[in-house]
Amino acid sequence: LVHWPFSATQRRKLNWVQLAGHKGNFKAADEGTILKKFSENEMQCFEKLKGDALLSFVPGYHGVVEKDGESFLHMTDLLANFDLPSVMDCKMGIRTYLEEELVRARERPKPREDLYKKMVEVDSEGPTPQEHSQCGVTKPRYMQWRESMSSTNTLGFRIEGIKKCDGTCRTDFKKTRSKQDVILVFRDFVGGNFNIIKSYLRRLTEIQQALKMSEFFKQHEVIGSSLLFIHDHTGNAQVWIIDFGKTTALPEGQTLNHDIPWQEGNREDGYLWGLENLIHTLESVSSE
Ligand code: ATP
Ligand code: MG
Ligand code: MG
Repeated sequence: LVHWPFSATQRRKLNWVQLAGHKGNFKAADEGTILKKFSENEMQCFEKLKGDALLSFVPGYHGVVEKDGESFLHMTDLLANFDLPSVMDCKMGIRTYLEEELVRARERPKPREDLYKKMVEVDSEGPTPQEHSQCGVTKPRYMQWRESMSSTNTLGFRIEGIKKCDGTCRTDFKKTRSKQDVILVFRDFVGGNFNIIKSYLRRLTEIQQALKMSEFFKQHEVIGSSLLFIHDHTGNAQVWIIDFGKTTALPEGQTLNHDIPWQEGNREDGYLWGLENLIHTLESVSSE
């Protein structure tokens, strides 16, 4: 008799990977679920998603819980049904900051040294002479720079991080910008298994259809949300919509197209345009 050396819980802990956000924002919870640090905004999104066309593409939401004096959103662990999964976080849209963040930074600029350092690390010529002399850049400026270095501006999505089934983790995709760059990353991510790509494409098409039906999607500026790609050696492959921390309701009666260019004031996020590009990119993974 051969005993698998890990219990289900231990195995789940081995599976768990967080490809973005602060490490302290997540806690393990009951079997197959996780806790994410509470945000009023994200909670409201999960509440509104309850009757929406997108419901079957977002993590199951099980309400707000208190733990060690802190509040959390209780949700399904999307990795739980996989055996040593490979995971990719792909951040959607043509921008990653809210219009209101831009306005605030303009009115009360707060140059940050940590963001200046991060910028210089990737490109010593990134900061302007003024930013160099003050050793600081504002948050929206840093985010706009990140968008221009990556594929956010050119393709409407970018790869944030990847964990492969061998346990290796990468989040150094800050300069992955061209379609060809992204194709190579995906090809490596699936280990050349094009059936996984086909499954992902089917799922992305379903998501695209659901987004076009969704009342929630029409009425929200969807910023900083990701598609989480998950597959494993059994061929199981899924894509989920995650992270509604910055998804913001529009004023009553207002809607977005999600596929027209952003101009400050129109609040467009380019989500559908990015998804279209992502689908075309994946189609090229197996054909080029
Ligand atoms: P940021 O805003 O910087 O992206 P965040 O704190 O809002 O971070 P999320 O983006 O929601 O956090 O999640 C961070 C990471 O945690 C994701 O990239 C993913 O790897 C993992 N993750 C989040 N939610 C789930 C889930 N329901 N199941 C499995 N993994 C998840
Ligand atoms: Mg995120
Ligand atoms: Mg977030």
